[in-house]
Amino acid sequence: MVSAVQRPRLVVGNWKMNGSRSGNAALLAGLKAAAPFPAQVAVCPPLLYLPEVAAALHGSGIHWGAQDCSSHAPGAFTGEAAASMLAEFGCRYVIVGHSERRALHGESDQLVAEKAAAALNEGLTPIVCVGETLDERESGQTDAVVERQLNAAIDELGTSISQIVLAYEPVWAIGTGKTASPAEAQAVHARLRAQLGAAADGISILYGGSVKADNAAALFGQPDIDGGLIGGASLNAEQFAAICRAAR
Ligand code: PEP
Repeated sequence: MVSAVQRPRLVVGNWKMNGSRSGNAALLAGLKAAAPFPAQVAVCPPLLYLPEVAAALHGSGIHWGAQDCSSHAPGAFTGEAAASMLAEFGCRYVIVGHSERRALHGESDQLVAEKAAAALNEGLTPIVCVGETLDERESGQTDAVVERQLNAAIDELGTSISQIVLAYEPVWAIGTGKTASPAEAQAVHARLRAQLGAAADGISILYGGSVKADNAAALFGQPDIDGGLIGGASLNAEQFAAICRAAR
């Protein structure tokens, strides 16, 4: 099925805290050999590897980004990286509000919204992640949870909400091998798009959660799914390239 409105197709690899200098070089060489892709493609390595990844991808048509940023301007924030620093290294995207950061680092909806604002201020595109846990889904709270998470960004960003990428990542599907069915994912994406109101038509909404080469086409074929945020499968050039080819 083809979307009525053709929004940019985007596939982003979230390497999480994985990689090594030699492993990254091999992964990126494989990816570059498989390019070009019908969709926009980006990878988000661990921060330490960002300069090397940027150098390797320069001129390849594949973009890069970060997995998080500070909500603050540069200053006394030990261990953090400011959005301006990511911009200096040519990042196009920054993931904010990934469920692992929400769960393991206690990030609130408001903090995630402030990180998105900080990214936009520096010309980066924030990929704002929302998604419900298994308990929340089973107790019928999926809509309320993702609505609350997205509302924080809408309230903080105002009309600039049109410049984000949104990612729906059901927490129960991340790294578990359980994928939302295309229909389940589409239902949430459609509700999120409705919530975005006038800005909705221009905003790409990615699905994330155990996307693999063999389920990507069915997910990306849904009218409100504009691509994917890919964890585990983005660490394998062949798998990731196949997923990127499925987004058209
Ligand atoms: C993610 O971490 O954003 C993710 C979707 O992971 P995986 O693809 O491994 O489920």
